[in-house]
Amino acid sequence: PERYNKNDHTLFLQKLAAMIAISIENCINRQRTLELGYQDGLTSAYNRRYFDERLKHETDRCLRKKTDLVCLFLDVDFFKKINDQYGHQVGDAVLIRLVTLMRDEVRSSDIVARYGGEEFAIILPDTGITLAHEVAERIRSKVESQKLIIDDNTLGVTVSIGMASLSQIKILTGANKTDPDEQQDLDQLLLGKADEALYQAKQTGRNQVVIKKMAS
Ligand code: GH3
Ligand code: MG
Ligand code: MG
Repeated sequence: PERYNKNDHTLFLQKLAAMIAISIENCINRQRTLELGYQDGLTSAYNRRYFDERLKHETDRCLRKKTDLVCLFLDVDFFKKINDQYGHQVGDAVLIRLVTLMRDEVRSSDIVARYGGEEFAIILPDTGITLAHEVAERIRSKVESQKLIIDDNTLGVTVSIGMASLSQIKILTGANKTDPDEQQDLDQLLLGKADEALYQAKQTGRNQVVIKKMAS
């Protein structure tokens, strides 16, 4: 008993608690740093860097598994007008709402990313063009029908969506590519085709979903 003071046990626990607190804080900070690395700061959607990595990964996986994959490219129609009319903060709030709406319409395993500005890209792995078209059309019509009420302003927002599928790209490039270098480009080709489809959607009236026709 003479080796210990009366308060030694609580002192020991206090020191232990301080060490545990630092460890927990360290874990939280590490997780935050990881999330900051792959999330968009405004909308909390995945960022472009993460999207590009995942598209490559999912394309390789779907090629190996011989399943299809669809890439959607979405752009807000006349978004500049929303900013000009209601201000940037309302514009920001629209982007945040859109991400929530898109996430609600896709599977939890699908990847919703902010590709830049008011453009979003979605990867639907293990999904064919027919089902993906239904998803895209659902997103488009929900955005159109859902009036966004932000700071006493009621906004009518529409989006244009372009889409392309891996199976279409495979046909375009020759189905049985064995050269891994050529396979590596399929993801970027897919993204490019979805972007072309989005351009078509914009050129032919906006507020619509366009599937990239590979012959054109
Ligand atoms: P279109 O139908 O052809 O797509 O017309 P648009 O007005 O949407 O296209 P444009 O590319 O001319 O405008 C995009 C606007 O998006 C311009 C830019 O100021 C705005 N923007 C980009 N990033 C943000 C953001 O983080 N917050 C807000 N509020 N606006 C942004
Ligand atoms: Mg736009
Ligand atoms: Mg744009």
